[in-house]
Amino acid sequence: MSMNVQSIASLPDKINQIRLLTAKIINDEILPNENRLWRWRRDGDVSDEERASARTLREDIKLKVKQAGLWAPHLPEEYGGCGLSFLEHAYMNEVLAYAVGAASLFGVVAPNSGNQKILLKYGTEEQRKKWLVPLTEGKMQSGFSMTEPDNAGSDPRSIKTTARREGDEWVINGHKWFTSNGIGSDFLIVMCRTDDPTGPADRNGKMTQIIVPTDTPGVNIVRGIEVWGNASDHAEIIYEDVRVPVGNQLGQTGSGHQAAQDRLGAGRVYHCMNSVGQMWRAFDLMVERAATREVHGGLLQDKQFIQGFISDSYIDIQTSRLMTIHCAEQMESGADARTEISALKIYVPEAYSRVVDRAIQVWGAAGVTGDLPLVGMYQGARTLRLADGPDEVHKILIAKNVMKQHHAGGSWDFGN
Ligand SMILES: Cc1cc2nc3c(=O)[nH]c(=O)nc-3n(C[C@H](O)[C@H](O)[C@H](O)COP(=O)(O)OP(=O)(O)OC[C@H]3O[C@@H](n4cnc5c(N)ncnc54)[C@H](O)[C@@H]3O)c2cc1C
Repeated sequence: MSMNVQSIASLPDKINQIRLLTAKIINDEILPNENRLWRWRRDGDVSDEERASARTLREDIKLKVKQAGLWAPHLPEEYGGCGLSFLEHAYMNEVLAYAVGAASLFGVVAPNSGNQKILLKYGTEEQRKKWLVPLTEGKMQSGFSMTEPDNAGSDPRSIKTTARREGDEWVINGHKWFTSNGIGSDFLIVMCRTDDPTGPADRNGKMTQIIVPTDTPGVNIVRGIEVWGNASDHAEIIYEDVRVPVGNQLGQTGSGHQAAQDRLGAGRVYHCMNSVGQMWRAFDLMVERAATREVHGGLLQDKQFIQGFISDSYIDIQTSRLMTIHCAEQMESGADARTEISALKIYVPEAYSRVVDRAIQVWGAAGVTGDLPLVGMYQGARTLRLADGPDEVHKILIAKNVMKQHHAGGSWDFGN
């Protein structure tokens, strides 16, 4: 089934054009080839020819994406991207996410994409040349190494990894895990507690992000952590007296916490728009099955339980989509959208879980097979509830912001 994307009357022409062009590539090039493109990931033991033909196909599609002017939507043109605004990119994501793995064929894959944004905002010209350009050209891979097994990832200020200044070098010691893409990375951006007497003294101010090439002595990649029963490239890493030049520091000493907030804030909106695209796909699959599957003397579409699944899912998708777009509009306008970000970070992954859960139920046994993309979506939706800040932390933040507004003498303005 193709994704049905039409122009939206209230949107600028440019956004409509981006959505339509993206949908054309999704529908014509990626959906019909989804299994062929990614089967090696799922099954592992595919023949060399199949692997090579999938690689060629991926490169062909990337070329078409570049020709359509849609490559690397998160980056400006001078760094090889197509220079979309935040809102344009958010609208593109709901279309991109409909097909499994499509984002990587459009040059926008986490954690590289987050690292690229950080290098763009905090990197010097030299750092950008050395790390950002090859990353964008696909010649390098990278990871973001913040979370630690022994400290609460939900409170990043609790991290214990240290960077000690010795002459012109930072000396890094610490234990991280869940560094996504960590296994095959050329460099990692490592969040460290920097004890620099000249830096700011507050808790947030002691954090600095430092670029660490993975071949630096002392970078010990312990393992890829098994996730949902599968091997993964989310790496556990021990940094032992790792020495890098001071010039590898990103931004000012002490800017690490702010850089992480910049990364995660925008990332949460993009992830939620991705979730909307995936819910859209799960919804289409559910509807398709309901229209054709006969059970107990009638089609599923005529059973009221199933009609309830369809209507509840419709409501889940619409609410998620409108919340995310509202938040993206707030961010585009430069408004403080922290409360909106937290609200959608809680709501959308839960709604996504519900929609996929219903789609699996409607498909019966087929729903939990590798023949459909629903299993991956189900696991992804559940994982999102704890990654990028767990639900509880976001709930606390919303309540704090609302109460702060109340104590400042104003009730909440839901119109803005
Ligand atoms: C697939 C995946 C990929 C990831 N990729 C990366 C990556 O690339 N780089 C990286 O650095 N990290 C990554 N992470 C780590 C992720 O960001 C952390 O797991 C997340 O921030 C939560 O931290 P934690 O696991 O230490 O949980 P904790 O901080 O130990 O929290 C555990 C639970 O405690 C509860 N909780 C927390 N605070 C409160 C509170 N104030 N009140 C009540 N309850 C609370 C919540 O239910 C929470 O789920 C990834 C994680 C996953 C699963």
